[in-house]
Amino acid sequence: MIVDEEIRHSLGDRRFELPGGHPAHRRMRELLMSEVEIAEFESFHQENNQVQIRWNHNRLEELGLVTSRPPRGLISKSGSRPLWYLIGLEEQGGGEEGEINHSERLEQYQFRFDVDRLLANRAPLAAALATDGTEALAWYIPFHDTSSEWGIYIRDIGPRIIANRCFPDLLRTNPGEALELAFDFLFAHEFFHHISEIACTMLENSNLSNPLYRPYFDRLVSGDADEALEEALANSFALDFIHGKQNKDGLRGLMDDCPPGYRDYGEYQSKLHFERGLDWLASMFTGKPFSRSNRYTFGHGLFSHPNSVFNRMKVPLHETTDRSPCTPALPICIFNNIIVPEDIKNKANHKRTPPNARKQFWKCIDKLRGSQIERNRRLEKLNRKDWFKFDVTGGWRMVLEQISPGKWVVRYLDEWDKYMRYRAKNSL
Ligand SMILES: [Zn+2]
Repeated sequence: MIVDEEIRHSLGDRRFELPGGHPAHRRMRELLMSEVEIAEFESFHQENNQVQIRWNHNRLEELGLVTSRPPRGLISKSGSRPLWYLIGLEEQGGGEEGEINHSERLEQYQFRFDVDRLLANRAPLAAALATDGTEALAWYIPFHDTSSEWGIYIRDIGPRIIANRCFPDLLRTNPGEALELAFDFLFAHEFFHHISEIACTMLENSNLSNPLYRPYFDRLVSGDADEALEEALANSFALDFIHGKQNKDGLRGLMDDCPPGYRDYGEYQSKLHFERGLDWLASMFTGKPFSRSNRYTFGHGLFSHPNSVFNRMKVPLHETTDRSPCTPALPICIFNNIIVPEDIKNKANHKRTPPNARKQFWKCIDKLRGSQIERNRRLEKLNRKDWFKFDVTGGWRMVLEQISPGKWVVRYLDEWDKYMRYRAKNSL
């Protein structure tokens, strides 16, 4: 890792506390509070104008709402991900008790949902996207920050929103790939902020009497559209990592709805325009306002590094979870009653059904009755409305239909390969 504690220490008093306008403060509020609490807080805050919830990594950690991963570098543009991406480097310690591994996480998130419905139900999230664009779903805490933790933060709902909104076809055929692509986009966007911080630090180091990053960063997070060039470049940079025209178009649709700056990525898509943008950005580091005539000639050189350096430019990665889950648009299943028809009963008790499947089937029915499930990796929504699949054992599946709110019927029970044929035949 290039930026280590020694480098951070050497910045001395050029380090600073996160400015009040940084989106992480707003995310902190959303991660911790329910929608009602946020509304109450906002009305109170506006009247009293005295309380501010500040970004606090340690508090999130105490509450189990953030998981820190080993530092990561950029993925390769060819689309081949480093091995850690596929197996999840976090498992290298053998996986702690109770920790969900990477593939299980993906399985949990395989539900598709309607993003518009989610946003209609989650006003703070919709407001975050409208105000903060990409930073509503992921954010970067610079190494200039005085707190102990810095790096890229990805909100767990983030890749899911992007996959549902931008890659719906891919999500249907290959949910794992769709979620990873969405993750790559967010990571690459935030990684550009890291590249930018390093570029500004290089300028800063050439004249130590003159701190540059702090005043520049204040302007970047001020919410002023004239200061948002870095966001346009970050979106353009991230888009370049996404393969396939359909996927890129999906992301363009999302970014076109983002606030000014974020939505201006299109102006920096060609190599020439991107480099010109970097020259303008470098001139902004020196305190100049954004202007097409303010070019810091060769400023783009501050952003390019040989591969040997790039490979070591790793950033700590943190994954955050909302305390009140973003679930209104996810299927929430309430099992008040489950009817087991005669034919299913016969199957479940038949001597040719393996004893384990017999036992587990009745155990599952008992457990589900009277319960509420908002997401469970054994439960998967099928393509037909109100139909769900449930994993009875490793090899046996049952299909449930909700016939009226809370009232369910078991429609099917069999081993996996027969279930797959049944599913295909009935277009489930
Ligand atoms: Zn950004």
